[in-house]
Amino acid sequence: MLDKTKKCPFCAEDINENAIKCKHCGSDLNNNDSKDVKASNHPNFISFSIICFLIPIIGLILGMVYLTKNSALDKKLGEHCISFSILMTILIAVVYFVYMMLSSGLI
Ligand SMILES: [Zn+2]
Repeated sequence: MLDKTKKCPFCAEDINENAIKCKHCGSDLNNNDSKDVKASNHPNFISFSIICFLIPIIGLILGMVYLTKNSALDKKLGEHCISFSILMTILIAVVYFVYMMLSSGLI
């Protein structure tokens, strides 16, 4: 009899194709079947990313609003907006800091 196997995405051992739990490392493989929710699947992903990029404060607020929504996709987009906005804020702070250092002649 032929046992169909696949590789465990966590430990790379061969496991039964229908396994829901890896027998080697015990990882839960069930979420491979359920449709994985990605923020990039959201229809507003591009426009929200642009908002976060241009005005991180608005992106942060948008992200918080979306985190309170019921849909998992909306929540994912909210998480994306918040992390992206925080990243942009840090980036702006660094650029501003370097600019201040340059203009005061410290570098
Ligand atoms: Zn494993």
